[in-house]
Amino acid sequence: QDTRFRGKHIVITGAGGNFGREGCIYFGKRGAKITALDVNKIALDETKAIVKKEIPAVQIITFVCNVTDPDSVLAAVKGADTEFGTIDMLWNNAGYQGQIAPTLEYSLTDFANVMNINVTGMFTVLQTVAKNMAAAKKSDDGHKFTIVNTASVAALRGTPAMVAYASSKAAILAMTVSTAKDLAPHGIRVNAISPALIGPGFMWDRQNQLHASSGSPYFATDPDAVAKGKINGVPMKRLGSIEEVVKSVAYLLSDDSSYTTGFNLVVDGG
Ligand code: NAD
Repeated sequence: QDTRFRGKHIVITGAGGNFGREGCIYFGKRGAKITALDVNKIALDETKAIVKKEIPAVQIITFVCNVTDPDSVLAAVKGADTEFGTIDMLWNNAGYQGQIAPTLEYSLTDFANVMNINVTGMFTVLQTVAKNMAAAKKSDDGHKFTIVNTASVAALRGTPAMVAYASSKAAILAMTVSTAKDLAPHGIRVNAISPALIGPGFMWDRQNQLHASSGSPYFATDPDAVAKGKINGVPMKRLGSIEEVVKSVAYLLSDDSSYTTGFNLVVDGG
């Protein structure tokens, strides 16, 4: 039996989305106390209903929270602490793909928006939660804390027609190594996960549809052909599953990776 998360308080952002929802189920099944955050109330409520149906005894609380609003993040973290006590683990996962358009046509407004959500927003959550962890560490020096930021292989390889997204995810990798150094003395490990082609799901479908209509010479004009072309380029010749992403996050959040910090775990089929 997997006891790595039993009784642990874990905060998950983007919990209304595909990855976050699967994470709530995975950690809920293993006895974690879950604080689920998302800006989309309908999606968040759906996650809560699904998790409660699958795991009737689960302890889960939700907060509608916009990661770009520091007051909203602070309110959620305070609420989480009141409900379940100090936060042990954070899956910092909310993200936005932005517009899909070649560099010469890319909107500056969209670029700023993607950076605001994916970079400043992710840092706002990281800092607010780390303060909660660091304050607890002072009174209990043996306590260990972990954070996983969701980046993307886009940060490493670049993605045509997605310059803002790729730039934001590269910033997340730099944020991960820098905060890992600052937070190690506080007993907090910080790592990143970089998934590649994961599906099925909203992001995979949206990306293929928009890549097909982007006018970029790297993509076919039919979304199915775009999808096939991408999978063909993966050595393992298939999409990764969301569960495969969550299992890798679980490794980094758990004590299994106890001597690893500032690391980026690539989940990309080769
Ligand atoms: P998703 O779109 O299903 O979920 C993302 C969630 O983030 C949504 O529920 C959305 O409401 C929430 N969100 C967006 N802006 C927010 C904000 N300002 N405040 C709070 N919440 C906000 O996407 P997903 O596939 O679950 O992706 C999760 C993470 O994984 C993202 O960071 C994404 O960039 C990354 N990622 C996904 C893939 C993939 O193939 N799906 C690959 C690599 C990286």
